[in-house]
Amino acid sequence: MIVYNYPPRTPAHKARWADAITSALANGTLQLLATDDSGWTDFYELSGRCPRCDHQLDPITIEFDVILGVEPVRARVGVFDVQCNCRAAHAGRDDQHRGCGWGGSNAVRLAVNR
Ligand SMILES: [Zn+2]
Ligand SMILES: [Zn+2]
Repeated sequence: MIVYNYPPRTPAHKARWADAITSALANGTLQLLATDDSGWTDFYELSGRCPRCDHQLDPITIEFDVILGVEPVRARVGVFDVQCNCRAAHAGRDDQHRGCGWGGSNAVRLAVNR
């Protein structure tokens, strides 16, 4: 079993988590889908399985702020906390927390095309 572990906020851990999220989005383990992109803020939902512990995540809401410019902006980019929130048991975790511990201290850059 993967032990609950809160990774330190270091460049190495940040890069590792960002790479894991990027790979998971590329291979379909995670999906980032629009739920409402009609207003000032584009709402997306990140769902799928945690790249670390492979448990199902509760969907995570991602909000891309819309910046209006002269030219239509075709991409939405932001930096988000993507923290594992699986409901499975992980040794070493107290009842106040969920997930395997990864993600919260290492924000991830996400981008979508409109
Ligand atoms: Zn996890
Ligand atoms: Zn888990």
